[in-house]
Amino acid sequence: MARYTDSVCRQCRREGTKLFLKGDRCFSDKCSVSRRAQAPGQHGVGTGRKRVKEYGLQLREKQKAKRYYGILEKQFKNYFVKADKKEGQTGENLLTMIERRLDNVVYRMGMADSRREARQLVRHGHFRVNGRKVDIPSYITKKGDVITLREQSRKSPKIKMLVENISARSVPAWISMDKENIQATITALPVRTDIDFPIEEHLIVELYSK
Ligand code: SF4
Repeated sequence: MARYTDSVCRQCRREGTKLFLKGDRCFSDKCSVSRRAQAPGQHGVGTGRKRVKEYGLQLREKQKAKRYYGILEKQFKNYFVKADKKEGQTGENLLTMIERRLDNVVYRMGMADSRREARQLVRHGHFRVNGRKVDIPSYITKKGDVITLREQSRKSPKIKMLVENISARSVPAWISMDKENIQATITALPVRTDIDFPIEEHLIVELYSK
């Protein structure tokens, strides 16, 4: 399966912003965006002094959103096509649909340090949705869905460690989290204001609408 192989911190430096791809490290002074505000590549070409044209801005915003959620181009474009067909604002539809992906929900539940880790946990079959094993990270959750940790998975040392950390994590308003039983319920569909990452989604819509 295709995946990003580039250094994840390099992706942040390229976008000139923190994409929070490495868990706790992203909040520490080890974060390379905090330490080095220059884009990767020779002389940091691509930021600051260089005049960025309209197309470049739109492209960067799309790349930023893809990297933040860890989604490759083909799938991201598919989300856009679906979002465009729905009622309402396409950009908002796009982001709120991606926000409902199972890997993102697992991350938002506080069960993983990063979306990448959440995706791996889902792929390994550690979660159930409404009692059934779902190992597809792109599964789009719905209002009323109940996500639980598989009973067998609780024995894994790695999972035990993640569960120990869960109480310190905040959970968005659209997810009701029973931290004791590791059970999340989607109580509402996320809206634009639930996404706290700065993305100008209108630029993405403009890019795909050319
Ligand atoms: Fe990005 Fe996190 Fe690496 Fe900082 S530590 S550059 S936020 S992935």
